[in-house]
Amino acid sequence: MSAEIGADRDRQIPVNTVRVSDSGKQFIVENCVRCGDTHYHGAMDRTVAEGGRSHRASHCGDGLDGGYYLELDHAAEPPAHWWRRVGVSQ
Ligand SMILES: [Zn+2]
Repeated sequence: MSAEIGADRDRQIPVNTVRVSDSGKQFIVENCVRCGDTHYHGAMDRTVAEGGRSHRASHCGDGLDGGYYLELDHAAEPPAHWWRRVGVSQ
């Protein structure tokens, strides 16, 4: 696969912003960009903590799973213990 085709495919993968649960164990997707539902994903993800995007299999349940990216919503102020556990200093 050429790099160009890879980039085209990436552009078609939706991005959900997430907040971190109070427990620090889960990412919470509210109003999923694909299905509008709420989804939960494991939050031990340093890539997301560092401001990157992490590709996950979707939890949309529509059988069209190209997955989506998760990206942190910094405005949601993740709990301090999550930052420590994931190993990123703030
Ligand atoms: Zn969904």
